[in-house]
Amino acid sequence: MEKLAVYPGSFDPITNGHLDIIKRGLRFFDQLIILVAYNPNKSGLFAVQERMDLIRQVVGDDPRIRVDSFSGLLVNYVRDAGAQVILRGLRALSDFEYEFQMALINRRLNRDIETVFLMTGYKWFYTSSNLIKEAAGHGGSVRGLVPEIVLQRLQEKYANRSERG
Ligand code: ADP
Repeated sequence: MEKLAVYPGSFDPITNGHLDIIKRGLRFFDQLIILVAYNPNKSGLFAVQERMDLIRQVVGDDPRIRVDSFSGLLVNYVRDAGAQVILRGLRALSDFEYEFQMALINRRLNRDIETVFLMTGYKWFYTSSNLIKEAAGHGGSVRGLVPEIVLQRLQEKYANRSERG
């Protein structure tokens, strides 16, 4: 039986830290769905469609990867996709409490689904989409922390923003 996992997140935008989890996850799972999970009441820097497009460009044509988006109860998406595993990454201790709570509530909601964690690669320890946006928004260089295409899109976004004032 093919092992399928769902890797959910906001991916606003995808970073090298996410990519590291994706690459390492594919060593254990045959198929991975990268799921842009969003809240329709919150707008991110990138629209959901843009986030998905960026992910697709970054992961390339890998038949083991599917990119999708969803807003709703995650365990229902996972069940309907025929998966049994939610893949998540762990960075600092500060991720732990939130991830622990999420994993427990998701297990309570559906006992057939397990959350599996991969520890961040040490290079990506402090790489979060939020910090990347913060740094890039103030003109700091985030080269090396995000794929090249994301770097370009961030520069475009913030250039447009400052032109608009
Ligand atoms: P972020 O916190 O960067 O906004 P997301 O909400 O998109 O990220 O996170 C999706 C998943 O990817 C979460 O499990 C998160 O802990 C994990 N993740 C994000 N960045 C990294 C990283 N640098 N190393 C390992 N895991 C990460």
